[in-house]
Amino acid sequence: MDKKPIYVTSPSLPKLDDFIPYLKEIWENKWLTNNGAFHRQFEEALAEYLGVKYVSLFTNGMIALQVGLQALRITGEVITTPFTFVATTHSIHWNNCKPVFCDIEPETFTMDPDKVEALITPQTTALMPVHVYGNPCNHEKLQKIADTYGLKLFYDAAHVFGVKKEGVSVCNWGNLSMLSFHATKVFNTFEGGALVTNDENMKKRIDFLKNFGFADEVTVVAPGSNGKMDEFRSAFGLLQLKIVDGEIAKRQKVAQRYREMLKDVPGITMLYDLPGVRHNYAYFPIRINAEKYGMTRDELYNKLKSENIMSRRYFYPLCSDFPTYRGLPSAAASNLPVATRVAREILCLPMYAELTDEAIQKIVTLIYG
Ligand SMILES: *Cc1c(COP(=O)(O)O)cnc(C)c1O
Repeated sequence: MDKKPIYVTSPSLPKLDDFIPYLKEIWENKWLTNNGAFHRQFEEALAEYLGVKYVSLFTNGMIALQVGLQALRITGEVITTPFTFVATTHSIHWNNCKPVFCDIEPETFTMDPDKVEALITPQTTALMPVHVYGNPCNHEKLQKIADTYGLKLFYDAAHVFGVKKEGVSVCNWGNLSMLSFHATKVFNTFEGGALVTNDENMKKRIDFLKNFGFADEVTVVAPGSNGKMDEFRSAFGLLQLKIVDGEIAKRQKVAQRYREMLKDVPGITMLYDLPGVRHNYAYFPIRINAEKYGMTRDELYNKLKSENIMSRRYFYPLCSDFPTYRGLPSAAASNLPVATRVAREILCLPMYAELTDEAIQKIVTLIYG
């Protein structure tokens, strides 16, 4: 047995030698953080790469979410999805707002727009959907609901770096989008994140809020936080931008191999590319129908683990099942039938640019037998 574990992900890294000149420049400038030269360059380069107007860099995605909610002045209730990483729900809680869980679509696992309106109350101020696994939400319908009811639309876009629909970055949608550059994401700066907006005043406000609320040396306009990205990671991000398209292309090949090799396994279903969408292959989720497959999701998870293959049960348990949130009326399983079932059946297989054919073959063989 191969002793070296195959993890669910492995970070893309540029060549170390290519990073040294950037480090030398930081050492020469002795400017480590607070909107330095690399920070400014990286914000501009990202806005251009993503095809958006303004990017505000953050030290991680969680703080970007918290600051985004502050910048939009969200209060009361926020309608969101339970099928996400806990940061989405926690950011609402940290802002003294109440998360209201909406069920997901069975095809894309994103928030089901047809179930949103029934959850709106006079306290609702925003929708916070997630482009989960890199699948774009049904934006047209969500924006229409937001417009009709006067709600803000704030996307957790942690999974959609580089994803486009009809040639347009999905980060252009809604009032704000949050990106995460955590080590496990398609594009990483070790830790990091960003808020994306097309509104110049909003960008300004966000930049005050991520720097303690300072508008200038002596003026503090809001109770801000500290979410600034430093020069080290801004420089690293600039370098990562040069390789990210190549990494996405390699991920696409991995996805194609899995799809080809797993297409005839009874009881196993996969997600496919959506029409008009440029995907980033951030994750490779499979859904296991225990009856047809002859084994439950957890049994398959444990079987792979016993062979040193670390798949992950993203997103199980649902956020609505954690102690902080399970008492909320919207957390009831009866309100979330699709999410409840998907959370029980989903398994994310190892997915990263450098995943070898040999490793894929090994994983697929175990799934077959
Ligand atoms: C990773 C992630 C976050 C949090 O980002 P960090 O940069 O790790 O703080 C938020 N939401 C989702 C859906 C994520 O996957």
